[in-house]
Amino acid sequence: MSTSTRGAVAPADRAAPLDAVALRRDFPILTQEVRGKPLIYLDNAATSQKPRVVIDALREYYETTNANIHRGIHYLSEKGTAAYEDARVRVARFINAAQPHEVIFTRGTTDGINMLARAWGDENIAADDEILLTEVEHHSNLVPWQALAKRRGARLRFIPTDDAGVIDLDTYGGMLGPQTKLVAVHHVSNVLGVIAPVAEMARLAHEHGAVIAVDGAQSAPHMPVDVQALDVDFLTFSGHKMAGPTGIGILYGKEALLDAMEPAHFGGSMIRMVELESSTWADLPDKFEGGTPNIAGAIGLGVAVDYLEHVGMDAINAHARQLGSYAVNVLSDMPGVSVHGPEADGERGGVVSFTVHDLHPHDVGTVLDGEGIAIRAGHHCAQPLMRKLGVHATARASVYLYNTTDEIDRLVEGVDKAQRFFGTI
Ligand code: PLP
Repeated sequence: MSTSTRGAVAPADRAAPLDAVALRRDFPILTQEVRGKPLIYLDNAATSQKPRVVIDALREYYETTNANIHRGIHYLSEKGTAAYEDARVRVARFINAAQPHEVIFTRGTTDGINMLARAWGDENIAADDEILLTEVEHHSNLVPWQALAKRRGARLRFIPTDDAGVIDLDTYGGMLGPQTKLVAVHHVSNVLGVIAPVAEMARLAHEHGAVIAVDGAQSAPHMPVDVQALDVDFLTFSGHKMAGPTGIGILYGKEALLDAMEPAHFGGSMIRMVELESSTWADLPDKFEGGTPNIAGAIGLGVAVDYLEHVGMDAINAHARQLGSYAVNVLSDMPGVSVHGPEADGERGGVVSFTVHDLHPHDVGTVLDGEGIAIRAGHHCAQPLMRKLGVHATARASVYLYNTTDEIDRLVEGVDKAQRFFGTI
């Protein structure tokens, strides 16, 4: 099948700053009206919309290629295998992995972290070992480590952050010691938008012989992520948050670490030799991809990362930061609105959480929905962080490459409407 970025606007048109209005035309879903109003989609931290090239690639795969991979000797199977492996190469290039086989296809960030906690954690974490996390983590980067710590008798320790989620590097450095085996940290918070100093954290972790696993669910879609420059040991992310399909994600790991790990899923495709009582494992990456994988999803993700590269990750990053800062400024200026996370000029991306005094975030979300504006309201799978912030929930607007300042202005008008409707201003 063809995995070209047919339909994408030429790269020259996408030099920074990006043209969000032109890019919108690549996303069919954005042309619709919702509740009689043009859709304004500001729930990108939950999932992003998909460009036509990705939707076409999925349809084209099923129309022209569908077959099981890696085991057929027929034409379609070989074609599917080539497209699947080509997608791995594209993703490896996207994150600058040293080798394509350091890229393992998973179902998503949650799946990748769970695989890691089992496959790396059960072998490498012993009683009284320490795993360093922060209170900012998404439940997906907390609960699997809680379960591991319980299984192995290990200890979770939490690196302090301020209310904006900024990590105190000195305190972090002081917490590292011979017992520290793992640092598991977000790259960008899905609630506060704050960007963690991952490269510096990796350097300090390695000085103490610890491994660092980064939750890249909110970074890989929005900023250039170079695993070799950051020198992280593991990175997990989800295709659906970066213009790709649902049900596909990535666990990146350094070759030596992956080689030394046991598989996480056992069954077909991941073996070298099976005897009745025991088996040996295939080489990377197959060792970690037992069973029939999400072939179409992987191919779709390959097309998505090509699309993002055509737009330019630097331009996407600059756009997210610019819109994020704009949203922080205009929301903070509203009476009765508090924005959580770093200031507009701080280390932040395009995720903006806010609370409106005397209004439940769900009420804010409902009024906005009536205006055709999609945001998220709730605890955002970060209950410990909500407790730290002293709230039950927040409203969250999160942008992507197709959002505009105009849409942020509409958001502000919607929040104002909610306040007037409920009589809080
Ligand atoms: N980590 C972070 C920071 C997230 O924002 C999310 C999803 O919102 C996840 C992990 C989990 O991703 P998924 O549900 O795709 O597995």
